[in-house]
Amino acid sequence: MTEQTTSGRQDDEIRAELDRLRAQIAELQEVRRQLEAELQDTSSSATAPITTSAELEATLRWFLRRVGMILQAEKAALMLYEPETGGLVAQWPALGLTEEEVGIFRVRATQGISGQVFRESRPIITDDATSDPRTVKENVALLNVRNVLTVPLVIERKDAEGMVVEKNNIGVFHVFNKRNNGRFAEEDITLITALAKSAASVISSAKLYIAVSDEKRELERTLQGMLAGVLVVGADSRVRLMNSAARHIFGISADDGTGKPLSQVIEDEAVHELIRSCLSGSSEATAELSVFSPEERIYQVQTSCLTGDNGDVAGVIATFNDITELRSVERMKSEFVSTVSHELRTPLTSIKGFIRTLLEDTDGYYDRDTQLEFYNIIDAECDRLVRLISDLLNLSRIESGRALDLVLSEFDLAQVINQVVESQRSYTHRHEFEIIIQDDLSNVTADRDKMDQILTNLLSNAIKYSPDGGKITVHARDVGDNIAVSISDEGIGVAEEQISRLFTRFHRVDSRDSRKQYGTGIGLHLVKHLVEAHKGEVSVESKLGVGSTFTFVLPRGLSRDDLSGQSAAGEPAAAESNPGESPPAGSS
Ligand code: ADP
Repeated sequence: MTEQTTSGRQDDEIRAELDRLRAQIAELQEVRRQLEAELQDTSSSATAPITTSAELEATLRWFLRRVGMILQAEKAALMLYEPETGGLVAQWPALGLTEEEVGIFRVRATQGISGQVFRESRPIITDDATSDPRTVKENVALLNVRNVLTVPLVIERKDAEGMVVEKNNIGVFHVFNKRNNGRFAEEDITLITALAKSAASVISSAKLYIAVSDEKRELERTLQGMLAGVLVVGADSRVRLMNSAARHIFGISADDGTGKPLSQVIEDEAVHELIRSCLSGSSEATAELSVFSPEERIYQVQTSCLTGDNGDVAGVIATFNDITELRSVERMKSEFVSTVSHELRTPLTSIKGFIRTLLEDTDGYYDRDTQLEFYNIIDAECDRLVRLISDLLNLSRIESGRALDLVLSEFDLAQVINQVVESQRSYTHRHEFEIIIQDDLSNVTADRDKMDQILTNLLSNAIKYSPDGGKITVHARDVGDNIAVSISDEGIGVAEEQISRLFTRFHRVDSRDSRKQYGTGIGLHLVKHLVEAHKGEVSVESKLGVGSTFTFVLPRGLSRDDLSGQSAAGEPAAAESNPGESPPAGSS
């Protein structure tokens, strides 16, 4: 009776244990099923895969919690192998560890139990981590480890028949501290090895997916941020990609284009031709393309073929670089060369003419006053040549990136203004000049020759661009620590949209009134550089048909220290000195 009772109790206990194990197995099967579903999701794009680190973190958190519950473990952590450092590094999230502990927990792949499991791809159970000679003691102390079950994280690649053809070890999985002072058993290894395999696949697929999509996003950001237009067309002549610059060039809205045939997206036949010839096998090409949207812009287009794995043409990538400004500067430059030739020849012809007349006048036909008048004209024409050459030399200095060296001295700006106005007055009978100078205008410390050049350029423009005459006013005043000088005219003025380009080298306003006057388009460009060399600023207010006011403002007391990188004293370089004693004249 007693024996029966004992064996009955044992049967009950065995049944209870079996029930417990069955429940555990069912739970494990559920975890595995869910992990495998997760894995399927990750590898097939039809369902929603793990696409972000946050989603991966949530999945792993769920997995670790379940493992902790099933194995009755306090802590669990995944470690991944880092080929760059040769280390095994704990990953966040982990069960029962703080973020800080995870940050510190890492070993070399040659160290400790982690290293051994990783290298040998074999699970290990350690019942007493503190005394086990294989454990890394700092980590045992850091994580407060009593016992541990460690399994490798292996990814298996299978062939069509389900045979494992490749195994790749990506790290290890630790489960620490069995609850209630229990020990990890052999059956725990079987369970956890199966789960770790699924977890390894989920992690590596998700990490790969996240890395590829991060790279893709980065590439897209770079492409979108590019100034050049980028167009990618597939071998089927459909648009694969267009960055925003390309959309802008062809006036295509953001959600339009991708996936459609090129002919439906871009009308320009020249673009079709370029893409067609590349797709039909001809190598890279470069061409120029004019696009009217609505103003004409010129693009340099470069096409290159994209080849697939088998060497066939898989598509074409075309880049569009805006070279409108480049072409416009080239055009302005060639116009400039012919204008400069003209500007040089005109005074020379006049000088030669008057000298020949005087030389040939052996009979004394011309009286003294007429001769004087001829000499004055020759003198003025020489000034005009000197002025032009000086401007050209200064321009070449600016173009080659050299600073305009300033020779500083303190002087009375009113005196320079009066001199320049007197000199300019001699070129015109149509204009009335008014000089308004603040009574107690302070002296300035600046480069006197360059002040002369700035004023001469602005005044000669005021005369040139008010061909019907009118009043020209020069107004100088102190403004705080600065001196401000304005030159106003009542001439042809400048249209608002042209104002921003006035100081661009070689730029001349393309209007009939403006083009009537000869010029090189470098005067204002030089004025800007000369004023800026003095740490000042030049600005313009103008109204078409009413007149213009050019104002420059500069610090009154410039010092050598203000001109870092420039030589502020000494002999001016020949290139920018104002040659000759005579005041500069006329044409800018
Ligand atoms: P330019 O040698 O052609 O005079 P500038 O650089 O001095 O070259 O001037 C550039 C252009 O700015 C001129 O071609 C002219 O169209 C315009 N401009 C300059 N000054 C004036 C002004 N006072 N009134 C109207 N237009 C002006």
